[in-house]
Amino acid sequence: MRPHIQRLRPYVPGKPITEVKRELGLPNDFDIDKLASNENVLGPSAAAVEAIKNAAAAVWLYPDDTCYDLKNALADFWKLTPENFILGNGSDEIIHFLMLALLDSQDEIVSAQPSFVQYESAARLAGCTCKLVPLTEDGRHDLPAMAAEITERTKMVFIANPNNPSGTVVGKAEFDQFIKSIPQYVLVVLDQAYYEYVETEDSPEGIDYVRDGYNVILLHTFSKAYALAGLRVGYGLANADLIKALNQVRGPFNVSSVAQAAAIASLGDSDQLTRTTELNNAGKKYFYAQLDEMGITYIPTEANFIMLDSGLPAKEVFQELLRHGVIVRTGDPFGLPTWLRVTIGTSAMNERFIKALRVIRERA
Ligand SMILES: *Cc1c(COP(=O)(O)O)cnc(C)c1O
Repeated sequence: MRPHIQRLRPYVPGKPITEVKRELGLPNDFDIDKLASNENVLGPSAAAVEAIKNAAAAVWLYPDDTCYDLKNALADFWKLTPENFILGNGSDEIIHFLMLALLDSQDEIVSAQPSFVQYESAARLAGCTCKLVPLTEDGRHDLPAMAAEITERTKMVFIANPNNPSGTVVGKAEFDQFIKSIPQYVLVVLDQAYYEYVETEDSPEGIDYVRDGYNVILLHTFSKAYALAGLRVGYGLANADLIKALNQVRGPFNVSSVAQAAAIASLGDSDQLTRTTELNNAGKKYFYAQLDEMGITYIPTEANFIMLDSGLPAKEVFQELLRHGVIVRTGDPFGLPTWLRVTIGTSAMNERFIKALRVIRERA
């Protein structure tokens, strides 16, 4: 194996429901809530399900490699041109395109810690250096500290906005100041996977920076608010020259025909998106009230998940929660051994989690 590949640590996904049932010997009809991967618990738009059914009979054909219809739908949606978009097998694939197309092994990227681990692992895959800058005390990107890490070798800075796992956003003014202060050769990757969930007014509109010609790419996904995680489709949005460079490394037919059809239908269903954000906003309020009452520290969130300090070893809490039928994520991979990251679910799911956490804390 190439040495830098040998050193890679495999991505640890949220535990699948089927695996939990297998491991705990639970019957198939045992009801488990997965609040571990920030999926949209409402499920996909009815229009998307219909589009998937309609696309099924044609799966013997290769998909449209250019994603013509989907790019046009996105161009309409964002008021840009189809040349501003590249589609990927999830936005994860766009991160890989960025590394393949732009990074040499002497190059550096800058990212936050904790943040989405795929930035670091894709950089390692490219054999290059990833400088990780700790979040501030309140779980926010430390943009001045990140800017200070930029050298003549820095090709990209990654900002997840909102950040995963902390759920925080960068402010409008601080982002504006940041992007204007860094060298033009540094590409800012603004990962907007949870864009649809943001409630605060004080978060930058990434699209404005694309329109104004900054060296920036936005990452978007249909996996989260659009509830198509199982189909794997996401996109990058940037100036046409950068999109052309990324297309150089894209494999043929990387987005399935079923995914393309479902994405177009989802994009057109703004009602489902409204239901999604309303459910999430109500869930946030419930979490805040319950956690305040229990005296639990948490980070107010702009996404569909919340980081909270269980006050107990998170790995043990995780195992206990499984027995209560709830799958969450532990904070230890992020260096936060008593914290949990919990996806905000339906009110029944949220209540089940809070009830279980109360029981576990009372017994501890
Ligand atoms: C979930 C997530 C993604 C999206 O992943 P897909 O590959 O599109 O499913 C990207 N960035 C962040 C920060 C995420 O949490």
